Amino acid sequence: MVSRMDLSRDKKELLEEVVSGKISFHKLDSLTDKKTAIMIRRFSLEETSGFNFDHIQNFSIDVEDATKRNIENMIGAIQIPLGIAGPLKVKGEFAEGQFQLPLATTEGALVASVNRGCSVITMSDGANVRIFRDLMTRAPVFRLENVIRAKEFADWLQDPAVLSRMKVKASETTRFGELVDVQSYVTGNTVHVRFSYDTKDAMGMNMVTIATDAVLTLIEDEFGAIPVSLSGNMCTDKKPAAINSILGRGKTVVADVTLPAECVEERLKCKPETMVEVNYRKNLLGSARAGSLGFNAHAANIIAAMYIACGQDPAHVVEGSSAITTMELTRYGELYCSVTLPAMAIGTVGGGTNLGPQRECLRLLGVSGSGNPPGSHSKKLAEIIASAVLAGEISLIGAQAAGHLARAHAELGR
Ligand code: NAP
Repeated sequence: MVSRMDLSRDKKELLEEVVSGKISFHKLDSLTDKKTAIMIRRFSLEETSGFNFDHIQNFSIDVEDATKRNIENMIGAIQIPLGIAGPLKVKGEFAEGQFQLPLATTEGALVASVNRGCSVITMSDGANVRIFRDLMTRAPVFRLENVIRAKEFADWLQDPAVLSRMKVKASETTRFGELVDVQSYVTGNTVHVRFSYDTKDAMGMNMVTIATDAVLTLIEDEFGAIPVSLSGNMCTDKKPAAINSILGRGKTVVADVTLPAECVEERLKCKPETMVEVNYRKNLLGSARAGSLGFNAHAANIIAAMYIACGQDPAHVVEGSSAITTMELTRYGELYCSVTLPAMAIGTVGGGTNLGPQRECLRLLGVSGSGNPPGSHSKKLAEIIASAVLAGEISLIGAQAAGHLARAHAELGR
């Protein structure tokens, strides 16, 4: 561990100039190597704040890689406890078998709760899971002269020949991405155009932003419409939005399982009909009365913990949390449970997926990097996470039906 005293003379001078404000944190990257820049920023903060960073300096991630793709003004890394839940039996089209789930969280009782849900699902022969749509969106906004011109623009965008030319233009910017669909939404003289792309194993936000930027030049050249902004918020990225819940964004994934009544009674200590009632009055009626976009108990908990563990962009928990959980009795008295996740932004390449710890978690699930065929890894990850959300929902609704929630948190989370 290097201390301030161990710095060479020229590095000490650099530190002094940063502390005095002559050199900015950002400028350091061009004046020294990445590791030294990180250290000097940290030492500078220690001098000005008067305390030492004992923890954030300890990390194993590759700083060359991280500072190139993931972070600016780096000073260290945050550690989040990582737990494991499982095995979870998944019967998807891409994820088939039993999986151990990595969950990065500071919420006590979460891993235990998901673990219980996994055991109930696995005992009941596993979760069925399917992906119904897989397209990432970017929606620039245009200002037209008037509504006549807006209509001409919307019609022009629907011309199959124009769509073909836009597809070619987009394909020039990426080896893997593919423009699939273009929809326009008119408000007076404003036109939002929602471009949807197959992004294969990438979550794809950078990819579709770059591709859409290229398509905008074609639109400008051929139609003369000038964009006001490359993102017009109808994408809709990282904000709760009905459009994502209805049309989908990223992956639209549905998972279900049928639990025998004995399994519910033995493992969850309650009756299937009590869980149906809790789900109805809480997840459905309660969420409706609250005007929520998420009709679930805590999908965000599982999504956040798995996104952080697996190098996903945690801000996409916003879209992921708009899940709907259903529970009903079958004619044999079993408990049918499902979760529908309309908008999961997931990738196994790009973003934070290349960082060492995150890559290890992806490896554990057998989805690190590019799949064969491309797209199969990100779909597999989405199926596993959706099944994990199902486990979390079953466990929490079971706990509430049995009146165990407060006790579990008191014992495990305090
Ligand atoms: P990226 O790291 O920018 O790019 C991933 C690239 O990996 C693809 O573009 C592709 O290169 C390549 N690739 C290799 N194998 C692939 C495969 N099997 N399938 C698909 N691509 C493959 O990642 P991204 O997913 O586009 O964007 C994720 C990042 O965007 C995250 O860091 C996130 O935080 C950030 N983000 C950006 C915005 C924005 O507005 N720009 C918004 C939200 C989040 P080629 O395209 O060259 O083929």
